[in-house]
Amino acid sequence: MFVIKCPWCGQRGQKEFTYIGDSNVKRPDPNLASDKEWSDYIFLRKNPKGWHDELWQHTTGCRVIFKVQRNTVTHEIRLTLPLSNKISGAEK
Ligand SMILES: [Zn+2]
Repeated sequence: MFVIKCPWCGQRGQKEFTYIGDSNVKRPDPNLASDKEWSDYIFLRKNPKGWHDELWQHTTGCRVIFKVQRNTVTHEIRLTLPLSNKISGAEK
C-alpha cells in the first residue's frame, strides 16, 4: 500500500482511492473518428514503466477526481493536482 495526497483532504492510504486511468488520453470527436480510432480510444492504453500521469478518485473521502503523477515501478508520487491544473507530460 502507498499513500496518496488528495488535493483537498491531505494524505490518506491508497485503499481510500480508485484508479481511474491515464490522464493523457484524448477523446476523439465521435462525429469524425473512424471505427479504429474510436476502438483504440476505448480499449488501448499504454503500460509505461516509470513516471505516469494518472487520474485517481478519492472514493471514500471527498469523491473528487484529480491528477496524480506516479512512478509505476516504485509507486512514488511526486505530484497531485486538481483536474483544472495541467501536468506537463511524464518524464522518463
Ligand atoms: Zn479527498
